[in-house]
Amino acid sequence: MNDGAVFEDLLEESARGCPLCRRSDGSAKRFIATFAYELVNDPTMRAELRRSLGFCRRHAVDAAAQTGAPLALSIVCADLCTQVARRLAAGKPIRATDPCPACDVAAQREQHDLEVIGRRRVPNVCPLHPRDVPRRELPRGLAVGDALPVGELDRAAGHDPGQAERQSAAYSALQRRLEAVIRHHDYRFRDEPFDDFGVIWQALSLFSGTDPRRRPTARASDPLDRA
Ligand SMILES: [Zn+2]
Ligand SMILES: [Zn+2]
Repeated sequence: MNDGAVFEDLLEESARGCPLCRRSDGSAKRFIATFAYELVNDPTMRAELRRSLGFCRRHAVDAAAQTGAPLALSIVCADLCTQVARRLAAGKPIRATDPCPACDVAAQREQHDLEVIGRRRVPNVCPLHPRDVPRRELPRGLAVGDALPVGELDRAAGHDPGQAERQSAAYSALQRRLEAVIRHHDYRFRDEPFDDFGVIWQALSLFSGTDPRRRPTARASDPLDRA
């Protein structure tokens, strides 16, 4: 889309609400949709997700809503579990150095739209702009099985060196369970009995703070989802 078309689209979107919010939310949603089908094995994407330790809660919920989510998120979470287990075993800190990739896509869209608008007037722009890229807040709280959410790991390991070892083992165990999900998605092994799909949502909750008991949906009445 060239800048003229972008400006036209901004004006058109402004009839339905804040055009900057609508366009940036839309680009994050499209990114998440593409992610489940095309980007999940992309090395650049994989590296980005390692730096952010996955998606923020809101975009994890969007990702879980995709048809291909069980396999895509198993692949991503298995990779992240490997990273976390290795870092813990090596005594390295567990933190996110980059924002959630979908938040980043939304921020880039907003920035470009603001450049296109320049000094012109577009109706309905809400007072939130320009926004900072939201910092990736790692989830905290109770353990899921033996594994603590990633936001708890640094503190737990700092208080008790044995905990780093136990958590590394817990994340390795999760990784193996996720590999079993990935294997089950391979047509050659489809007929083998398998019922451990719940591990996908358990792992996602450790990285993104979603509900560990079920596949998260946007309708979950949690105030954080509306933030
Ligand atoms: Zn807005
Ligand atoms: Zn996000």
